[in-house]
Amino acid sequence: MSGFEARGDLQMKEVERDDAAREDLVPDLLDMLRHSVALVGLYDRDEILRYANEAFRAAYFLAPDERIDWQTLMRRNFAARRGTVIETDDIESWISSVRSRRGKSRQRTYESDLHGGRFIWVNETRRDDGWILYVGTDVTQLNVSERHLRLLNDKLSRQSFTDELTGVSNRRHVLGQLQAALDEGQAGWACLLDIDHFKAINDACGHQTGDDVLVAVAQTVRRTLRLTDGFGRVGGEEFLILFAQQPFDDVMSTLRRLQAAIGGLDVLRGPAARRITVSGGVTDVSRKDTQAQVLRRADLGLYRAKENGRDRLHVVASDDRFEAPALARGEAG
Ligand code: GH3
Ligand code: MG
Ligand code: MG
Repeated sequence: MSGFEARGDLQMKEVERDDAAREDLVPDLLDMLRHSVALVGLYDRDEILRYANEAFRAAYFLAPDERIDWQTLMRRNFAARRGTVIETDDIESWISSVRSRRGKSRQRTYESDLHGGRFIWVNETRRDDGWILYVGTDVTQLNVSERHLRLLNDKLSRQSFTDELTGVSNRRHVLGQLQAALDEGQAGWACLLDIDHFKAINDACGHQTGDDVLVAVAQTVRRTLRLTDGFGRVGGEEFLILFAQQPFDDVMSTLRRLQAAIGGLDVLRGPAARRITVSGGVTDVSRKDTQAQVLRRADLGLYRAKENGRDRLHVVASDDRFEAPALARGEAG
C-alpha cells in the first residue's frame, strides 16, 4: 500500500469515528437547544414547524408540543396581536409578500420585531429540498439608535420588490430571480400566465372588480406553488412563474390545478358572473439560455395559447424541433 493510500484509509476511519461521535451528541444537542436563549425552529418543505425550542415557542406563543405550519402561525399571531409585529390591513397579502422572499435563496437574514418591544436578528438557512432552519437572536439591547435606519432600509427594499396591488413579487424581483437561476446554472421551467379577456372584465364589472380579480388570481397562484418556486406580476394581468427543476409532468399538473382553482374563484358575481380563465406559455429554463430567450419562448407559447382559443397552456421548448400542441384545460398530456 502506498503512503497516499494509507493516509486516505486513516482519514476514512477518522470520518467514520466523527460521524459516530456526532450521532452520540444528538441528544445533548437537542437538550442544549431546548434551553438556549436563541430562537431555533425547523420547518419542513411543506412549511410545517417540525422542531421549535422553548425560546421559539415562547416568542410565537406555541403550546409545548403543538404542530403548526408557518402560515397558520402568522395568521393566528396577527389576529391576537402577538409574536411578530405585522403592519398590514390584509394578512393574506402580507403572507403572499413574505412568501415571495422566503425560501428562495439558501441564506436569508433579516430583523424582526416582536410585540412587547423585542427585536430579533434572524438567519434562515434553506436546504435544497425546501427545509428551513430558523435561528433568531435577541438584539433588543444592541444598536438601538441604528435600528430604525435598518428597519426603514428593510421596508424600502421590501417595497421595491413587491407589487403594490397584489402583494406578490413585482417584475423586477421575479426577473431578478430568473437571472439568478440562470447565473447559477439552475435548470427549471417558466410559465407566462395571462388572464383571458381581462379588458372585458374591467368593462363589464368596473376597474375595482378588475383589481379584485388580479389580487385573487395572484394569491391563488401563490398558494398553489411550492415555496421554492418563484412568482411575480410582470405586467397588467400577466404573471411569471418560475418552477425549480422537476419533471415536466409535475409542472403541467400544477398548472392545470392552478387553472381549475382560478376557474373556481367567485370574485365575479351577479349578472356579470363568469368563469375566470387564464392562458399560459410554458418553456424550459436551460443552462445555456439567456433571460431574453426564456421570455421570448414563454411569450410565443402564450401567443399560441391565445390564438388557439385561450383557457389553455402551450409549450415551446428550447429545442426548436419540439413545439408541443396546445393543451386545453383538463386535456391529458
Ligand atoms: P386576452 O385574452 O387576449 O389577454 O385579452 P385581454 O382583454 O385580457 O388583454 P388586453 O391586453 O386587451 O387588456 C388588458 C387589460 O388589462 C387592459 C388594461 O386596462 C387592464 N389592466 C392593466 N392593469 C390593470 C390593473 O392594475 N387593474 C385593472 N383593473 N386593470 C388593468
Ligand atoms: Mg389578457
Ligand atoms: Mg396581457
